[in-house]
Amino acid sequence: MGEEQKGSFRTATLELLKKKEGRLTTLPFITRVADLANHLSLSKQSKSEIDRVSRVFPFRIPEFYLQLMDKGNPVCPIRMQSLPSLEELEGTGETDPLGEQRISITPSFLKKYPGRGVFLAGARCAMYCRFCNRRRLVGRQWNPKLSWEESFLQMERQADLKEIIVSGGDPFMLPACDFAYVMERLRAINRIRIVRVSTRIPVVYPEGLLEGQLKALSGMPSLWIVIHINHPREISPEFIDAVRRLKGIGANMLSQTVLLRRVNDCARILRNLFETLVSLGIKPYYLFQLDEVAGAGHFKVRIEEGIRIMRHLRENCSGLAIPHYALDITGGLGKIPLDYRYIKGRKGEEVHVESPAGVAGMYTDNGKKSECASCGICKG
Ligand code: SF4
Repeated sequence: MGEEQKGSFRTATLELLKKKEGRLTTLPFITRVADLANHLSLSKQSKSEIDRVSRVFPFRIPEFYLQLMDKGNPVCPIRMQSLPSLEELEGTGETDPLGEQRISITPSFLKKYPGRGVFLAGARCAMYCRFCNRRRLVGRQWNPKLSWEESFLQMERQADLKEIIVSGGDPFMLPACDFAYVMERLRAINRIRIVRVSTRIPVVYPEGLLEGQLKALSGMPSLWIVIHINHPREISPEFIDAVRRLKGIGANMLSQTVLLRRVNDCARILRNLFETLVSLGIKPYYLFQLDEVAGAGHFKVRIEEGIRIMRHLRENCSGLAIPHYALDITGGLGKIPLDYRYIKGRKGEEVHVESPAGVAGMYTDNGKKSECASCGICKG
């Protein structure tokens, strides 16, 4: 076969692959150092470091996300989140910081809290974030699809289950037909009233949001899309368009952000991010303290710094732009709020508090003791 024939054969094969996956766009992911070097100027040493780290923690960056990078800035927040760094091989951390293996009912279905469960629909993401708490699974040789049916069966058996968080990997990386199948199966479980989809696709690879996936989500009774976004630089026209399309099918929009050293550990950056999200109709939901995952310790911000940022937000922003600052306790013990203690003390009925601006205040806590009104809701 001549070079030209080989080329057209490769193009035809790629097209076939894309059609099979329900994706008619390009396959623009960088997964090799040699390809990365076509986009970024990298020294020989950087190339060898990236290569070394990616043998332990694989990397994958969509070309779209690379375009958001300030290529002349070594600490550009886009670069910091996506490019492997030697620091990943230093320090401590857990493979499974949230103890998910312990609470797995099947390989793709976990349940930690009453009433809600997490379905790990896929193992792929458009980008492998360098601080991902599921890096033991994401981008590895693990196929959650093999346990889908077992998971649906177990969901049917959980008498208290009302809400499913569809996560992974990124659920929007599933081919449209698989994505539609998952939604159909979840819809068929009558007691599931709320579906939450966690995604980073609108941020890092907006072209990956497929019409077939949106169609599969339309008409969900209570649909919440939670977008993982960490920096105002990640808000692109394409992101705004993806949000518009999701809102067009009636999705309620939330965001979650990880507090990351040298990426967004600044009150002004986060204020800008959260206020912009609110203006786009997305409620900032969580600001997470970094999970203690292996290879990400260099992103850790001190909790006192996080609290200082939250105090700035509370003093300066609308309540709509203030997320819960939370820690998911290592070992899978659950989430706790980390906010500043505005209650300073109490003397009898006097509760001494502090205002967001740091001014002392007082509340007379003399309400009568709560009593059951026998409304019957608890028996329903
Ligand atoms: S998008 Fe989420 S699941 Fe995927 S690599 Fe990033 S943090 Fe991990």
